[in-house]
Amino acid sequence: STLLEVRGLTASVKETGQQILAGVDLTIREGEIHAIMGKNGSGKSTLTKVLVGHPHYEVTGGTILFKGEDLVDMEPEDRSLAGLFMSFQAPIEIPGVSNFDFLLMAVNARRERSGLPALGPLEFYSVVSPKVDALKMDPKFLDRNVNEGFSGGERKRNEILQLSVIGADLALLDEIDSGLDVDALEDVANAVNGLLTPQNSVLMITHYQRLLDLIKPSYVHIMENGKIIKTGDSSIATQINEGGFKSIALV
Ligand code: ADP
Ligand code: MG
Ligand code: MG
Repeated sequence: STLLEVRGLTASVKETGQQILAGVDLTIREGEIHAIMGKNGSGKSTLTKVLVGHPHYEVTGGTILFKGEDLVDMEPEDRSLAGLFMSFQAPIEIPGVSNFDFLLMAVNARRERSGLPALGPLEFYSVVSPKVDALKMDPKFLDRNVNEGFSGGERKRNEILQLSVIGADLALLDEIDSGLDVDALEDVANAVNGLLTPQNSVLMITHYQRLLDLIKPSYVHIMENGKIIKTGDSSIATQINEGGFKSIALV
């Protein structure tokens, strides 16, 4: 069934009123993997930020339904609790909060919402530890403050650790491949693939074919000037890789 249904979505920068999204239509069903490609500045990151309710943007028209619920007036925290996860192109640092505590809080907030008892630190450690290993991360990461002093690659792995611990019905992954070497990219892609089930979905933004070779999209969308102007299968990505965006026929 349909997980996300975006219709005619327009959005502006709150402070200046500058329109960025100019009528986005996008449907994502359970179990699908979608990729968005597009030139720099076409509005890809803004779309994902608007979907999660980033406070810098204002929705000025259109609708966003997630599992049939209207997201537009929902707080970011509630969107996340409803099953929407976002990795940030530049992940934020959270001073004074360890990774471990951050993850435990996030997991317990979700358990509470489902009427489950909170996990204690020891119980949680046994949940999180194999996931740290699977991502080939140093267990010391759990004691460090969220993203503080992490290298680009460490941040990306940490984002995927968050996703694998917290879980999501729809994960929005904005350039998780940026700044990763080939081995790290493979670890991250394997982790994402390991999370996929027939019920959950991924929307990933990327410039690179190599990510799409590792996480195979059901659909590839091209974004330009705040709209999705073309949708097709993964052959679009191959075409862009070989001939650039100009090689894509728009009709
Ligand atoms: P992409 O991710 O496709 O590279 P973005 O969504 O980051 O593009 O940005 C789309 C356009 O909107 C760019 O021209 C960018 O400068 C502008 N933009 C995005 N967010 C803001 C903001 N908060 N304030 C001003 N301009 C913004
Ligand atoms: Mg950009
Ligand atoms: Mg971007």
